[in-house]
Amino acid sequence: MRNVQRAACAAIAVLCLSACSREPVANNESDLQPVTGTRIVSAEQGEWLSHGRDYAEQRFSPLTQINDQTVKELGLAWFAPLPTRRGIEATPLMADGVLYVTASWGHVLAFDARSGEPLWHFDPKVPKDYGVRGCCDAVNRGAALWGDKVYAASYDGRLNALDRNTGELVWQVDTRLNTEDPYTVTGAPRIVNGLVIIGNGGAELGVRGYVTAYDAESGEQRWRFFTVPGNPAEGFEDATQARIAKTWYGQWWENGKGGGTAWDSFAFDPALNLLYIGVGNGSSWNRKIRSEGKGDNLFLSSIVAVKADTGEYVWHYQTTPGDSWDYTATQHMILADIAIDGEPRKVIMQAPKNGFFYVLDRESGELLSAEKYMPVNWASHVDMETGRPVEAPGLRDGSFPGMIQPAPSGAHNWQPMSYSPKTGLVYIPAMVSGAIYADDFSAKDRGGIWNTNYAIAPMLEVPDAVPVEQRAQMGEMLLKSVLVARDPASNREVWRAEGGYFSSSGLLSTAGNLLFQGDLDGIFRARAADTGKVLWQTDVQGGLMASPMSYSLDGEQYIAVAQGWGGISGLPYGAVSGPRNMINISRLMVYKLGAEAELPSVEVTEQRLPKPTLEPGTDEQRAEGRELFNLYCSVCHGGNAISAGLISDLRYRINDLGDSWQAIVRDGAMASLGMPARGEFVSESEAEAIKAYVIEQARLGHERGEKRLVPAR
Ligand code: CA
Repeated sequence: MRNVQRAACAAIAVLCLSACSREPVANNESDLQPVTGTRIVSAEQGEWLSHGRDYAEQRFSPLTQINDQTVKELGLAWFAPLPTRRGIEATPLMADGVLYVTASWGHVLAFDARSGEPLWHFDPKVPKDYGVRGCCDAVNRGAALWGDKVYAASYDGRLNALDRNTGELVWQVDTRLNTEDPYTVTGAPRIVNGLVIIGNGGAELGVRGYVTAYDAESGEQRWRFFTVPGNPAEGFEDATQARIAKTWYGQWWENGKGGGTAWDSFAFDPALNLLYIGVGNGSSWNRKIRSEGKGDNLFLSSIVAVKADTGEYVWHYQTTPGDSWDYTATQHMILADIAIDGEPRKVIMQAPKNGFFYVLDRESGELLSAEKYMPVNWASHVDMETGRPVEAPGLRDGSFPGMIQPAPSGAHNWQPMSYSPKTGLVYIPAMVSGAIYADDFSAKDRGGIWNTNYAIAPMLEVPDAVPVEQRAQMGEMLLKSVLVARDPASNREVWRAEGGYFSSSGLLSTAGNLLFQGDLDGIFRARAADTGKVLWQTDVQGGLMASPMSYSLDGEQYIAVAQGWGGISGLPYGAVSGPRNMINISRLMVYKLGAEAELPSVEVTEQRLPKPTLEPGTDEQRAEGRELFNLYCSVCHGGNAISAGLISDLRYRINDLGDSWQAIVRDGAMASLGMPARGEFVSESEAEAIKAYVIEQARLGHERGEKRLVPAR
């Protein structure tokens, strides 16, 4: 035993010596210097080394060359196409003159940050029919840097460590607990103290959430923290699991497996050695199925602080006890040191889906304030004595009248916020939303497909009788982006700007008094950070969701943003999006003062919904088909079979697909394009019923004269 310990110490000493004595000198091939924790914390002004720029995740650039006076001179320096056609949600990183960006599925690309010259491209080769195993498009939010490697996860749950010079794979681990459950990874890794931190998604489809830390050099697993308990009969992993299991009832490990996936948000305080984890919603969503309708169900919808080195639990704050509405607390968290009532406080801030903006003491977890930042009717307020929300009467027993606000899409989703220490404001890319959640217990657990145990309007279904124009209005009314600037010290709104459909992009604030944001209508803007006034804008031709970032090289400041419409807004919401020009253009765009590059023109053409030539089946078939479509198909192909445009609108194609319908739906004839075999869920006659429903929806749409805009070929 003693010998083993001595050997281990010797090995560590060697590692330490080699690391400490390593001169930050370029090799022959490049000028890349090792990325370290010190370098991330004290990031050179011009660099952007971690997802939210540094561990505090403020997404604030101290650069001032582009400012509220000069921004009118901002122009396109260069752009580069990205190799995928799905949503792009990634924040680029910049180190040593190289810009790293991820694309859908977990592709990683490196560019010369000055010229845009492509340096390398890593394709994780995710099978396209894995796409259906996630809730919200095959997106990826970014990479991480450490030492001489760049790290990014692929959609199918692999964590890939690549050589920063070449993009070659150095090591790879499968982060999934098992290969049966529908785990996906869309979030950016964070690297703290040499550990790569990564979570996962899947709580719409039935998984148990957890976060894992891997050694950045070797890929060896160092710790794993489960966010919800497993089956007690199999034994709890630790005392924390035994404790939180007391807040669960029934057989949650079967009825949805708990959920609580940490699919996006982390922050790290090196001085406290605390890693903060944003935990997602329950699975199944409906607590009546998940936990016999009772219990807080820890750590769903919570911010959890753990020791970064060991993953040991320290404190938690649950934003939505017993969540039943997809109110994740996975949203972006920001650390800042601010004065509250004249007293300096180390805080963590979050605007989770549930509509309250929370300010907590990040050392103790004490709740300092919680106020609504968007329309909320599920709770009247948060009781500051108990820290718990005061729920609206009738919310749990189904007697609550009408729509619940926010909707499952949230008052704020994954789009990152920004905090400017200069204005003292937190900027939230928020959204007005609402939905009707009707219990649906027709299937208790259908592992592997969307199963929330709710019928949800208008997300998956809108009454056919609602005309298309009114559907669009419904979308405007219920899914409207609002940019909010809040003072976290008083937890009050300072200014707001109303935007277009759904959530606009993530945010970047700068010391030049600027706030950058794009939107789904294809406009990229800079506002004055103190007042919200628009100072500059440019037409980027297609929807933009990801956060911009900024860097500086050779005395020139750049603004970079990755573009590619998609995500959840590109999937089920077609029935409320109306006839929009939502074209996926996937590319990286980089701006600087005085630049004059131009984007190539995009031609669009109007296509009318063709008249179906196939027989629409019987009334009974169509009614059955409607149920089945909304259960199995609508999350990708759109509620009411009206696609939001990213994935095939079946009504436009039914005349061509009709003959091969059974082979496509049940046998996977188009699996390589992303449509998996659904034979295990859908019988032959059920597939025919779905077809009858699609034909009928095509007929109704044709008679309404429906059209869509598509790129001209
Ligand atoms: Ca969710």
